Amino acid sequence: MTGPGEIVHGRDLEGDLEIDADVVVIGSGAGGAVVATTLAEAGQDVVVLEEGAHVEPTEYGQMRPSESMRHIWRDGGTTMAIGLGDSPMINVTMGRCVGGSSVLTGGVCFRTPDFVLDEWADTNGLTELRPKLMEPAFDAVEKAVHVNEVPASMRSLSTIKFAEGAAKLGHPLKPMRRNTVGCNGCGRCNFGCPHQAKMSVDISFLPRAVAAGARIFSDVQVDRILSKGVRAVGVQGRIKNREKGRIVVHAKRVVCAAGAYYSPAILKRSGIGKQSGQVGKNLTVHPSFRVMALFDDPIRGWRGALQSMFCDTYEHERLLFNSLYIPAGVMIGTMPGVGPARARNAERLPNLAIFGGMIHDEAGGEVHSLFGKTVATYRMTRADRALIPKIFRIMGETYFAAGAKEVYLPILGTEGVDADGLRRLDGANIPSKRIECSSQHPLGTTRMGISPWHSVVNQDGETWELEELFVADGGIMPTSLGVNPQVSIMSMAMRIAWKLRDRPLPS
Ligand SMILES: Cc1cc2nc3c(=O)[nH]c(=O)nc-3n(C[C@H](O)[C@H](O)[C@H](O)COP(=O)(O)OP(=O)(O)OC[C@H]3O[C@@H](n4cnc5c(N)ncnc54)[C@H](O)[C@@H]3O)c2cc1C
Ligand code: SF4
Repeated sequence: MTGPGEIVHGRDLEGDLEIDADVVVIGSGAGGAVVATTLAEAGQDVVVLEEGAHVEPTEYGQMRPSESMRHIWRDGGTTMAIGLGDSPMINVTMGRCVGGSSVLTGGVCFRTPDFVLDEWADTNGLTELRPKLMEPAFDAVEKAVHVNEVPASMRSLSTIKFAEGAAKLGHPLKPMRRNTVGCNGCGRCNFGCPHQAKMSVDISFLPRAVAAGARIFSDVQVDRILSKGVRAVGVQGRIKNREKGRIVVHAKRVVCAAGAYYSPAILKRSGIGKQSGQVGKNLTVHPSFRVMALFDDPIRGWRGALQSMFCDTYEHERLLFNSLYIPAGVMIGTMPGVGPARARNAERLPNLAIFGGMIHDEAGGEVHSLFGKTVATYRMTRADRALIPKIFRIMGETYFAAGAKEVYLPILGTEGVDADGLRRLDGANIPSKRIECSSQHPLGTTRMGISPWHSVVNQDGETWELEELFVADGGIMPTSLGVNPQVSIMSMAMRIAWKLRDRPLPS
């Protein structure tokens, strides 16, 4: 198909819909947008189906955080992975809109570390993913989304304070790279960039897909993949319009990119996964923790880029530390205390710094489909669980080295602690249910591999069980990455899209 395509608001459609396409892509997030754009630009007739709404950047850019969470976040930001055994509950946030989670990122960009790619090749047999072979995909993605280093002038004092402490303790920070053009450091990235400076896929990729003829339907939830014999031939789903219409897309090729939580649910509903038993398993999330610190002097951490520096000194211990900031109102909501105690803490906001730490986790989770709902559970391995108090200690000590008076650890029900309090902390015995843990990086539930018994897709991204069905989202990562994943996901999707572009469509 050539000529301009369109973005159709599903909720404005009347009744049911049945259409034909060369390729149907489920989900318009980081993975789906890259595949849709690459194939549309190669002249294929592409249809994208997205469960969330189409919210224009000019619209989400004006929303208050609470509005943004209702309109472009999944479940208003409350999705959980239920902690099993000695694991905390994990708040796993995702986007649900045209552009997917990409619209919510802080813009942080890391390539998949070489040692991870080499491990995939050496241990999992994925020799096509060696660093040298992945380089063209990384280059193409980074060019398309304008990845560049955050200038030192944009660092917030919140980050600078952590950097000072880190330098004193011998784990210096490094400058981060982000996908922005003209970022002014207003710090609202997670709720949708008001200046269209963040090159999320709704700004960087999807307009190109539409210009090349792709049709994107928002408000359409795909329920299952249609198959004929051993081949995928389309999808079926629901339109969120007044009539609760049905939609069927007949396609020569199906690409599932609904993210690591929802692609396995769609595959399972379609009867895929019985052979390997791996669909929905091997969920990793990069469990993450935020630590705040109180300084005598004002920090005003909202001035400067949301994220600008990181520390990978502890990579060998599977820890990464990233700078971050949260809009003031939201940050107050996460502070300890109730009533006057909360008010006292809120008044300290200008003097607070904040930093994040995350674990390069071993696969401990699973996505289940229960009574039509998608639910995740997560059992941290013993080794990962032992890293939590270590993160608290490293971050607390770093802030004290920078002159902080108190640190607020993510332990529910506790107030700030001073340096002595941190030393006395019985880290090994913090009850899991009191640990505040979040994740923005679900991965691994439809992992790539070289054997149909241990993985869901092959090195081309095609499912072992159904021909012409591909998965191209965070689910295909063979393991967690230890770094923020958007560039890895887009690059893996790009690689799959290049293969599909060069492979003739079935008749
Ligand atoms: C708050 C936040 C901050 C983040 N910050 C960063 C960062 O700074 N750097 C970084 O590298 N990564 C970051 N990430 C992670 C990154 O955004 C994701 O890893 C990446 O976008 C995942 O890509 P994906 O294609 O797997 O899924 P998504 O981008 O989530 O796309 C999946 C899409 O599929 C849709 N969908 C689901 N089910 C269906 C269905 N049944 N039918 C139709 N459509 C469906 C969803 O609505 C969604 O739009 C962040 C994520 C969040 C939530
Ligand atoms: S800091 Fe502000 S301008 Fe920069 S990418 Fe984030 S939201 Fe956009």
